[in-house]
Amino acid sequence: MPEKVSIVNCFGEDHVSLTKAVTHAMDLLDSPLSSIRSGSRVVIKPNITAQDISWRQGVVTNPNLVRAIIEVVQQYNPGEILIAEAIAIGLDVKRAFSFLGYDKIARETGAKLVDLYDEEFAHFSIPKGKLHHSMEIAKTVMGADYLITVPVMKTHVATEISVCMKCLMGTISVEQNKTFHFSGLWQSIIDLNLAVKPDLFIVDGTVAGEGDGPMANKPVRLDKVIAGMNPRAVDMVAARMMGFEPGESALLGMAAECWGPLPESEIQILGEPLEKTIKPFKRATNSVAAREGITYLNGNACAACAGVIELALRRAERVEALDKSRPLRILFGPDAVIPQKEGTNLVVGRCLSQLKDAGYFVPGCPPQVFLISDEIGEMAGCERGFGCKEDYMFCDTDFISHSSRNHPAS
Ligand code: SF4
Repeated sequence: MPEKVSIVNCFGEDHVSLTKAVTHAMDLLDSPLSSIRSGSRVVIKPNITAQDISWRQGVVTNPNLVRAIIEVVQQYNPGEILIAEAIAIGLDVKRAFSFLGYDKIARETGAKLVDLYDEEFAHFSIPKGKLHHSMEIAKTVMGADYLITVPVMKTHVATEISVCMKCLMGTISVEQNKTFHFSGLWQSIIDLNLAVKPDLFIVDGTVAGEGDGPMANKPVRLDKVIAGMNPRAVDMVAARMMGFEPGESALLGMAAECWGPLPESEIQILGEPLEKTIKPFKRATNSVAAREGITYLNGNACAACAGVIELALRRAERVEALDKSRPLRILFGPDAVIPQKEGTNLVVGRCLSQLKDAGYFVPGCPPQVFLISDEIGEMAGCERGFGCKEDYMFCDTDFISHSSRNHPAS
């Protein structure tokens, strides 16, 4: 049986127009919502990665689309509908709900807003996980009778694309989230997708995001909704719509390594023909720019590591921390070696952890942008914005692969 993915046009950005689009997308998929039982609990998990950025920027889910989904779901008479999110570390989802107008949607539709960080998390086992044998996931999500995720379609500096598979990171605890970057982000996302299995994915392609996601995307107006029941199939279609060639996304490549191949010929696209929807997106930054006083020692690094380093350097430049840290050598990539010279080294990435005592060290695979910029800030005598870096390093190696590279080179 082919995996079905529907692509539909939206004729307007209000929730009434979007309700028609969602209804059409569901009809094309043979009404997956009809399996919602009367009186059951439906959880809708949007993609809210920022607390004060408009949905028109292509960074967070369009609330009008969530409202449209609620109205379509209500036709199946569920007992309650929750809109649930665990926002990125350091941000406040209640503020985001209010800023984006979710408060009003909840009032007008009777849906309930849930900050998952206020709820309980529990360990759920992942027998087939490669890095993680269990994960701390929100019980509200795992206990849903019917789970729908509504990711924004966008490019991302650490994962190239962020659609259905990546969106599930908004279901885990803060502590679990920190282990993802430390132990290997891409494989962790794949393991997470073995644990959390939404019933339906409805991708927000009304305004998608190109460039430096997850927070600094530039908007691309597409006026599309994409839906399906298989996250990998939907991600493959969304990647093609964003101009990625088959096999180009390393995250999808890793999914194929873990779960076996999913040829495009086994995906049935319903509604708009794929060729008509392709619009090449600007990729997220994936290289470092030349800078006076900064030497890069790139030892065959993944593009993601170069991208996060570049974004961190720009951030450090904005607060003038970089000026105070020059001259500086930055080592990244598994084959980087320390030159026999005096000078300050910044060693970036888990695959260089054997060099962690050779200078300033930032863990992670790839590391978070804010951890790198915090480290540069610390060199310059600034206070760290995100707390102690040891909070992001884990001694428990049970869940960590012993290979030096947790990403395929890209
Ligand atoms: S394997 Fe190394 S270079 Fe690649 S993302 Fe991880 S830390 Fe960076």
